[in-house]
Amino acid sequence: MNVGNTVGLSTKAIHGTSLKDAHGAPHLPIYNTTTFAFENTAALLDVVEGRTPGALYTRYGLNPSIFALEETMAGIEGAETAWAFCSGMGAETALFMTYGREGIACIGDAYGGTLELLADQLPQVGITTDFILGHELDQLDALLQAGAKLVFFETPTNPALEILDIRAIAATAHKHGALVAVDNTFASPVNQRPLKLGADFVVYSATKYLGGHSDLTAGILLGTAELLTPVWPWRKNLGSMIAPETAALLARSLRTLTIRVRQQNASAQAVAEAMNAHPRVARVLYPGLPNFPGHALAAEIMSGFGGILTIEIDGDTAATSAVADKLALFSLAPSLGGAESLATQPCTTTHHGLSAGERARRGISDSMIRLSVGLEDAEDLIADLTQALDQENQAI
Ligand code: PLP
Repeated sequence: MNVGNTVGLSTKAIHGTSLKDAHGAPHLPIYNTTTFAFENTAALLDVVEGRTPGALYTRYGLNPSIFALEETMAGIEGAETAWAFCSGMGAETALFMTYGREGIACIGDAYGGTLELLADQLPQVGITTDFILGHELDQLDALLQAGAKLVFFETPTNPALEILDIRAIAATAHKHGALVAVDNTFASPVNQRPLKLGADFVVYSATKYLGGHSDLTAGILLGTAELLTPVWPWRKNLGSMIAPETAALLARSLRTLTIRVRQQNASAQAVAEAMNAHPRVARVLYPGLPNFPGHALAAEIMSGFGGILTIEIDGDTAATSAVADKLALFSLAPSLGGAESLATQPCTTTHHGLSAGERARRGISDSMIRLSVGLEDAEDLIADLTQALDQENQAI
């Protein structure tokens, strides 16, 4: 089947590769091999010199299991090209090495590992980043004027779910000849398409919603072929290639991406509404709630509000930890996007490395619990949260 642009997201996710199994199996076998043999030197040189696309060596990404994943992912995102990596951090590192050398502007609250890479490791090789928060966007012009050529951000942000206007940021960046990369991990392509909103690159921790079962680690970078071509040697020589088994497992997961994410959107909305009504919850941060500051913008640029919400407990750090500790269905774990619901208190995990002052500057309170809503029944998740909040209420 030639999956054109007219078919829907679920169809693209299931029929997304033109590669077919020689024996008629509905899926490709896993090409669990490091290298591929050729009939003769001329045929080998055709692939090595890029005249014929084909399999060659797995670390180069030239393996059919990886081709199939990348073709499917490009179709889902509506991108010309997709490249797979061994992790989200691997994808980001290759992107920053290729396009960050004239300076990076990082907006808002990014994943802790990304902040560490930008602030601590990359300056050691001469790649520097200026950081501004979402409410400091008026400083972006000056940063770009000063020379930054890559703008990087997440939206919604972690853990406050701040919504940044990809369209406006891309317009400012492009005015200065800078490129824009959006980490779309929280939204997934089901809920947001940054390329359509003006971004030049989309990057994913495929470990989260794309994988969807908390059982694989991978990354994806998408954009035009022209922009991605210079990233290729970095991926190849940093050695950050996805393994064929992981590529096949991820392609398997993509077949259920839409249905999983849509269910997680619906359950997160139900959980957010229930938490909004609970007396021990001071605040619920969820883009799907009409009283959330980013709600109107999210409704404009997203097609779903996502499966992550953050609740702020009416209590101090210890009382918040006590609520988290009483959860039974939600596991206390710092990841997201899987079938299993997870809860994490950002000051103990994702933002543990920041000082209390810096957390406060970023609007991250120690009373926050970030919830990744999984695929359990929403009523059970609400009952679990309610019992944890009610028990803690009695303890006070
Ligand atoms: N981006 C976001 C938003 C994340 O949450 C994470 C990991 O938690 C990453 C990137 C890094 O991804 P990985 O763990 O696949 O390297």
